[in-house]
Amino acid sequence: MKLAEMYKKRGLTLSFEIFPPKPETPIQTVFDTIEQLRDLHPSFISVTYGAGGSQKGRTVEIASKIKQAFGLEAMAHLTCVGHTMTDINQLLAELKTAGVENVLALRGDPPQGQPDFDFNRGEFRYAIDLIRHIRRSNNFGVAAAAYPEGHRACPRISTDWKNLQAKVDAGVDVLITQLFYDNRVFYQFLETVRAMGIRCPIVPGIMPVCNAKQIKRILTLCGASMPAELLLIVEKYNDSPDDMRKAGVEYAVRQIQDLIANGADGIHLEPMNKPDLAREILAGIGYLPAK
Ligand SMILES: Cc1cc2nc3c(=O)[nH]c(=O)nc-3n(C[C@H](O)[C@H](O)[C@H](O)COP(=O)(O)OP(=O)(O)OC[C@H]3O[C@@H](n4cnc5c(N)ncnc54)[C@H](O)[C@@H]3O)c2cc1C
Repeated sequence: MKLAEMYKKRGLTLSFEIFPPKPETPIQTVFDTIEQLRDLHPSFISVTYGAGGSQKGRTVEIASKIKQAFGLEAMAHLTCVGHTMTDINQLLAELKTAGVENVLALRGDPPQGQPDFDFNRGEFRYAIDLIRHIRRSNNFGVAAAAYPEGHRACPRISTDWKNLQAKVDAGVDVLITQLFYDNRVFYQFLETVRAMGIRCPIVPGIMPVCNAKQIKRILTLCGASMPAELLLIVEKYNDSPDDMRKAGVEYAVRQIQDLIANGADGIHLEPMNKPDLAREILAGIGYLPAK
């Protein structure tokens, strides 16, 4: 089933994001994760694509397994940075053969250790180039990334949103947002881009904060901000992992409940390959009976 159809269904369209394990970790670990996530009845599971195009084989392999062995809908993240047209066509062909119908079309970040990477060098410069290419030559459901606080590399947030509009006009079915922790920021973003004429579903990406060190690293990388309430939680439980996890789950539950109450188009949950975490959050919002 394609994305557009999934977001037309009644009820909550819930998706999970997982990432391929490191090359030295057996791939079976992520298959065990998927098996447990399947019990939580997601509409689909998305699989990230390694920064700079690393681990690309694993993304395709995992997305294919989700579809074929687990009988779930899958969405493969695909970054075009550093890829040739031939690379991209090969990946799309592999996904098609496996019956994977949806792609999250991304530009991607510079390869690690190359901050001066030249984005103009390749055939694809921005995500919009990949989206146009997919639309021209393939029949996939297409999602793209959106940044409620603006993409960190864009000097003006309003410019980023104009770029977003162009991307959607190129043929995006669904936007999935970068993680954020202040729903007011998301609602403000939504009002602005809806007024600009963006009509497709805009699905909030939610990553629970369960580890103080990890969240600081993630926020540093993606440029999202941490509201005072969350900052106090992280400071308070810095040395107490169990309490941090509990508080992080509670925060995510409140955030999601508020988003659903305000008519969110869906929820894209990033449980960091931890099915227990996903289960606790879904039980907290009443999507699953508590254990
Ligand atoms: C939901 C989600 C999932 C993600 N999954 C992955 C993943 O699996 N693997 C991974 O490596 N990364 C992933 N990312 C991160 C993403 O690759 C980076 O944020 C990357 O820097 C931008 O990708 P994009 O597709 O948003 O790029 P684009 O939409 O191309 O935008 C990139 C920048 O270019 C600007 N821009 C766009 N068009 C133009 C133009 N015509 N002229 C000038 N400037 C322009 C934009 O404003 C923005 O600042 C994900 C992000 C999100 C939100």
